[in-house]
Amino acid sequence: MSYHTKKYQPGEIIFHGGDTSNCAYIIEEGQVEIFVESNQTIIDILSEGELFGEMGVLDQSPRSTSARALTPLTLLEVKTEQITNRLAESDPIVKALVGVLLKRFRSMLPNQGLSDGKSNLLDQVTSVIEQTGFSKFKLESELRSAINQGEVQTVFQPISDIQSSRIAGFEALSRWSHPERGFISPVEFIALAEETDLIIEVGDLVFNRAIEMLAKLPEHVFININVSSKQLDDDQFLNRILKKVNASNINPKRLKLEITETMVVDFNLAKKWIEKCRKIGFPVCADDFGTGHSGMEQLVELDFDVLKVDQVFIRNMFENNRYQSILKTIADMAQSLNTQLVAEGIENEKEYAVLKALNFDFGQGYYFGKPMSKDDALKLNF
Ligand code: C2E
Ligand code: CA
Ligand code: CA
Repeated sequence: MSYHTKKYQPGEIIFHGGDTSNCAYIIEEGQVEIFVESNQTIIDILSEGELFGEMGVLDQSPRSTSARALTPLTLLEVKTEQITNRLAESDPIVKALVGVLLKRFRSMLPNQGLSDGKSNLLDQVTSVIEQTGFSKFKLESELRSAINQGEVQTVFQPISDIQSSRIAGFEALSRWSHPERGFISPVEFIALAEETDLIIEVGDLVFNRAIEMLAKLPEHVFININVSSKQLDDDQFLNRILKKVNASNINPKRLKLEITETMVVDFNLAKKWIEKCRKIGFPVCADDFGTGHSGMEQLVELDFDVLKVDQVFIRNMFENNRYQSILKTIADMAQSLNTQLVAEGIENEKEYAVLKALNFDFGQGYYFGKPMSKDDALKLNF
């Protein structure tokens, strides 16, 4: 895709109302007048750096107004697909909002019916509003009130010492049981929360519960918490939890923070964040290890205390030998890097035996225990 530059003399028409909309324009130099030809109403005067002609491009309808050069003019042509591809890839809610604005703006213009009923982008965005946008908005406000009313629960899944099988700690996980929709998976609502700032509230909620729980658990038991990328960007996040940990007299070593490789978009930021955790004393754990695309350099530079090997390696270890070879390589590597190793998703004795033989430090999975309420977790033997 390339940009084309076009020049116009003052008074020259760029397009007429009713013309096919085949591109939009950015004004590189000069001024443009947008007007309605039938009654010569001037709608807008635009200058350098502004975009016009995008409406017809967005909904594939003919030009609704005319445009002419007011001064000597240089325009950059923006092709239809440069705009529509971006919109197609954008968040459904953004798409829906563009659709609403477009519709509203069109209804304000004189003599503007909507386009001819063919299936075009505007129809698509309107149906997106119905299908995705609105239901998402609804779910989002429901999540907000669920958080406020304590309907988002925290459960705790045991993490056991592989050699002794004794409980060493827990991972705190969120649960939402919706009054009508029933149980909503954290995969769905955490993703929704991450699109907004709600994740900060969910995160704070889980932290508060984890700290309360740590105060009740024996001193040697730790809790792992999932940190999302928004919390990584929030500079106050670590200070906030440190304050709470100190106020409850809890050793920060007992609160392990899990981040995933895919979250490490800004490598330097992640590095600083991990260094700050180290200074404070919070151990940092690489969650879903082995599934991201980052190379060895990331592993060398980001000084994780714990690697948590993704469930996929455990689930497939007997289907495909290569998974076991990789597990062995990871175990050797962790030993030489002096990093602790957790295997996730252990469901049976056979898998457990392999990981024990490979000298993994910890195991988590249905074999040791499913996520459970705080009360059930406190009844376990430590
Ligand atoms: P995750 O951090 O990888 O958490 C492990 C997931 O594996 C949990 O799913 C857990 O219930 C499940 N699991 C554990 N052992 C087994 C097993 O033996 N077999 C199988 N099939 N599954 C097992 P869950 O609770 O549904 O959470 C899904 C994801 O949602 C988590 O993946 C995490 O990324 C996210 N999540 C959950 N709670 C929170 C939260 O409070 N904050 C954030 N930021 N993310 C959360
Ligand atoms: Ca996790
Ligand atoms: Ca995981």
